[in-house]
Amino acid sequence: MQNNPMQTTCGAKTRKSHPCKTPPVRNRKRCRMHGGTNNGAPKGSQNALKHGYYTRENIAKRSELQKIIREFKALSGELNDQY
Ligand SMILES: [Zn+2]
Repeated sequence: MQNNPMQTTCGAKTRKSHPCKTPPVRNRKRCRMHGGTNNGAPKGSQNALKHGYYTRENIAKRSELQKIIREFKALSGELNDQY
């Protein structure tokens, strides 16, 4: 997560629906009140896993399948052009 040097405010939505004007924690996107000092869930945390649809492996598998489908469609398109 790179800090945008142009970003001078936290920008999180406050309870009054305005963007937070506090400067973010160094090298973070958010201020200390809006999670800037929080590292997030530890690697490998299973706390929010329900069906595994968005696990790294499943996302990679889907994009691989998508690639095969694209190639197949391109190939069938070539065949249609020829015959
Ligand atoms: Zn903030």
